[in-house]
Amino acid sequence: MIALDPPAALRGLRAVSAPIYGHSATRWSVTGLVNALGRAISLRLPLTTERSMTGTQPLRRLWMRSIATACAARLLTEEEDGLLLPEEAYLYGLLHALPTWIDLLSQLPAQSPEQVSDTWIENWNLPAELAAAAGVGDADACDPSILDMLERAEQIAEHAGFSLDESRQAPTESQLNCSETMEPLVQRTRLAVESMLRQVGLDFTIPDFEFDESPGDENLPFLDTASETSFDDMTLTLLGCSGSINYRGIITALTAAAVRHGGYDRAYYAKWCACRGHLALRAKADLSSRRLESARLVPNQSETEALRIALSEQQPIHITANDGPGILAQLGADEMVLVPLNNDFKTPSFLLLDRWLSLEPIRLDQDKDKAQTLSLAGSLLIENLLLRKRRERAQKFASTDGLTHLLNRTMGTRVLEQQMARAERSGQPLSVLLCDLDHFKQLNDTLGHLLGDHALRITAEVMRQTVRRADSISRFGGEEFLVVLPDTAASAASVLAARLHIAIEELGRDHGLPLTISIGLATNRNGDTWETILQRADHALYASKDRGRNRFAIDPSDSQDPAEVLPAGRKP
Ligand code: GH3
Ligand code: MG
Ligand code: MG
Repeated sequence: MIALDPPAALRGLRAVSAPIYGHSATRWSVTGLVNALGRAISLRLPLTTERSMTGTQPLRRLWMRSIATACAARLLTEEEDGLLLPEEAYLYGLLHALPTWIDLLSQLPAQSPEQVSDTWIENWNLPAELAAAAGVGDADACDPSILDMLERAEQIAEHAGFSLDESRQAPTESQLNCSETMEPLVQRTRLAVESMLRQVGLDFTIPDFEFDESPGDENLPFLDTASETSFDDMTLTLLGCSGSINYRGIITALTAAAVRHGGYDRAYYAKWCACRGHLALRAKADLSSRRLESARLVPNQSETEALRIALSEQQPIHITANDGPGILAQLGADEMVLVPLNNDFKTPSFLLLDRWLSLEPIRLDQDKDKAQTLSLAGSLLIENLLLRKRRERAQKFASTDGLTHLLNRTMGTRVLEQQMARAERSGQPLSVLLCDLDHFKQLNDTLGHLLGDHALRITAEVMRQTVRRADSISRFGGEEFLVVLPDTAASAASVLAARLHIAIEELGRDHGLPLTISIGLATNRNGDTWETILQRADHALYASKDRGRNRFAIDPSDSQDPAEVLPAGRKP
């Protein structure tokens, strides 16, 4: 037996129907359900030329069978007095296989609403006079006698050959519990449905006596909207992302907290571009896996006013269907909560929350604490992130060299100081290279300062690429660079120095610039401070300049004369 549970059905249809732009909001009614289902079908049923009832298109077969059931239901009510008006029976008949519909629809991707042709929606509502039967009205629960009637209608439809599963055997007379009137009814149903389908251009052959498996009481997982509503959980979730390093992380946490802990089942994050008159959707959290298809919502006049009030008062505000199409209509929502974030920004942002699937009414007087916490926490998190970003930028600005983007001298010596202390604790060696471009004044004088600047930039880049990840380079002076090599003895540092010589010579060749570098190398020894090791590296650098440049010299730990080393392959 298929239970017609309209609110659950509407939730299911909403979950599988149009992307964020659902059908227009309808509190459930039989007509509303029929229209919602028609739209959900039309988003999936391609307008192919396939015109066979026996084709491979299960959606189409289910569609036909639903129409057949509807016709049978109408015929039944015409035959048997009571129960329902024939038009009502027709609408109920269309919805009889609703759980199967929802199940099937949820497995198929929807097209974007723009690509949908109205043809299928029109087809669904056939015959035309039934459209006039709109407003069947809300019923609190489905009358069991209607369900009985529908089940019978379904059997008649199946008996007439409108089946979903073609592998099934035809039902026996006793299975159908057929009355005397059954046979003529079957015939009339078949004729009525055939003529309807022909009206929409579908020619088909009804296979004789095939029977469909009755769908059971399926549990539809996407209808489970169980949500925790603990205030503490929500606060903890939000606090947990206070260290979030990016904007998206915060927005995700906010929307997820609204859904998981706030009792809402859809949460959108949007920036309000008041001057352009739209809300730009940036993120969403809901129980569907659908993408955010359109990024713009245009609020109507009263929604715009609500956005303003929410922002100026920094209070969440409850909006309900009001004048003309706006945010609510575009999101297919009946009501929403607008939660303001950061009122002092040029483009403030909002969380848009609703209970689209559960259809639970929003009572802002009861939900105020959570909405307020979302607003406050969201504002603080975003502001905190912004301040941190600004501080990081300021720190970076203060610690890097504007021309080469290497660390500046202050930071370079600070790194050296830290690494010296670390090496002393660990007993590991540490080496430094003090590098100076050769005859750089001449390069400037002959080629100009602009090219000199360029040469400094590309040299810095090549040096950065040549050293290891753990090493640090700073611009120590005009054309001088300091390289700190942790855990590196003199021998390994010599290898690196030789690599730098080669890399910079190559760079010069590639750019047609006279680029070479001289290097002074020093390795830590007992009692060294960052100043003394630098002095010794400087001493070694002078030695390599003295000896003809484009070479490196090692400051020996126990002799006054630095050892001279030439780049590979060069003779003194
Ligand atoms: P040596 O081989 O002895 O090191 O000779 P040198 O010309 O490189 O040494 P000197 O110290 O006499 O000159 C360094 C030059 O570096 C002076 C200055 O014009 C240039 N310089 C320093 N900073 C910059 C800079 O930011 N941009 C440019 N284009 N040149 C710079
Ligand atoms: Mg120089
Ligand atoms: Mg110099």
